[in-house]
Amino acid sequence: MWQRLATSFQRIRAVEAWRQARLCLERMLANQIDRALFKCQSCGQCLLFQTAFICPLTCTRELRNGPCRGSNPHHCFIKPTRACTWHLIYARAERQGAMERLLEVNAPRAAPVNRSKASVDTPHAQRCQHGYGPRLLDRLINPGRYYTEWEEYHNRQRALPWWRGDSRYHPPEYSEPASQLEDRLRSGKFAISVEVAPPMEPTGVRIARLAEQLEGHVDTFNFTDNPRGVARMGGLACAIHSSANGIEPVLQIQTRYRDRYNLESEVVGAHLAGVHNILCMCDDTGRLGPGPPPMPGPADLDTVQALWMLRRLRDEGVNVDGLQVEHRPRYFLGAVVSPCATLPRYAALITQKKINAGAQFLQTLPIFDLSRFCDWMEALDKRDLLGKAYLIVAVEPPKNANHLRFLASEVPGVVVPSGLHARMAYSRDPYEEGIQIALEIIAGLKGLRWVHGLHIHAPGREEVALRLVRESGLRDFTPQVESESGNGRDKAGSDPVLQLATNGLPTRF
Ligand code: SF4
Repeated sequence: MWQRLATSFQRIRAVEAWRQARLCLERMLANQIDRALFKCQSCGQCLLFQTAFICPLTCTRELRNGPCRGSNPHHCFIKPTRACTWHLIYARAERQGAMERLLEVNAPRAAPVNRSKASVDTPHAQRCQHGYGPRLLDRLINPGRYYTEWEEYHNRQRALPWWRGDSRYHPPEYSEPASQLEDRLRSGKFAISVEVAPPMEPTGVRIARLAEQLEGHVDTFNFTDNPRGVARMGGLACAIHSSANGIEPVLQIQTRYRDRYNLESEVVGAHLAGVHNILCMCDDTGRLGPGPPPMPGPADLDTVQALWMLRRLRDEGVNVDGLQVEHRPRYFLGAVVSPCATLPRYAALITQKKINAGAQFLQTLPIFDLSRFCDWMEALDKRDLLGKAYLIVAVEPPKNANHLRFLASEVPGVVVPSGLHARMAYSRDPYEEGIQIALEIIAGLKGLRWVHGLHIHAPGREEVALRLVRESGLRDFTPQVESESGNGRDKAGSDPVLQLATNGLPTRF
């Protein structure tokens, strides 16, 4: 009897060993097939169903919510030898009619719990191992079931309890303006901001001098966050100093080298210090700094995730871990957008995602090509976005032909028409020519509806703002945002938007 029992036991062990071996083999096979089919990186937080079955981790920056501001149809901005992953995703999703799926606000990636595990299972491998997720065989024999399973799997991924991402527009849930800038924009006045490069030395003399010079001519100072990879005074210290000198600051927050915790703690601290305008942006490339590039820091959040997190903290009182906070901070949230780098309809989609996530004002990169800018405005109009966020357009007077070339080739998202390069190259006084170009662009922008403000981008030579504001007559300018019916949410008619391409366009473009 004992012998028969031992034999049965051995048989059970053999069957179990065979089952384990088969599962392991299936899992390995599924992982390899996913890798070959979708370039899957086995992150375990799969977005393939949403991203037209192109793994977003193949993006050089591993962005999960859309492209960086340098994305374009030709190549990746950081690695010019390869195509931009997000451009490929958008193009394939458009062919499949699945663009709207890309509006989901996806959670940041979590670090793997078991750090010793080399890679995490792909969705197909999880099906083999745990019984949930899409079945690879169904791709051939039952595609309907295959895609339903994908959708269920994807829904589980995105609606994580601590994140609760979705694809809807969330208007701000407070009534009184959070800052003077918001108050000005709400009351229909034109806003002027100036980009200020923080000093490299620990003294605020330059900020105080600029505040004295520009007071009464501009509304806000916008402090850059270590621009172009050069270490400077922290934005929050500059913002506090600017407030003390009478100019309201906008605090720029780059997601570079910040994780979700220090981003939230900085913003909560800013609220206490009386800084209530926050501008979220994706980082500069990091290759612009003069020194050797540092080791990569945490790439925890992208702009959309930062906006989502800060909006939930302000409007729902939920912090980054999903915990409820008693006292909510108040701020006016903005995002940087890149209207000209990629196709207008793709740029409008990522803009919509930022607005849905919480952007109340949009600050563009410096604009040199007004007709491309108009195409983007048209694409925004088609998506019914005009009027959902205040639009502040950046203008930069180039110093000389080399500076213009630098902007076009090294700053992600800046597009310069070829005619402008020639105009600067053949000018007798390039500095003055740059100012004239900026004045012409401002004149064009004044002809557009739904432009609520101007951002003068001349870090290091901020004094030029005084001349631009005086000569363009912007101080008394009223933005054209209301339709004949007086409804501020009405869309711009096609004629005024396109007016710029014909009437407002500088003749020498
Ligand atoms: S251009 Fe930007 S979005 Fe596109 S692959 Fe490169 S880093 Fe990613």
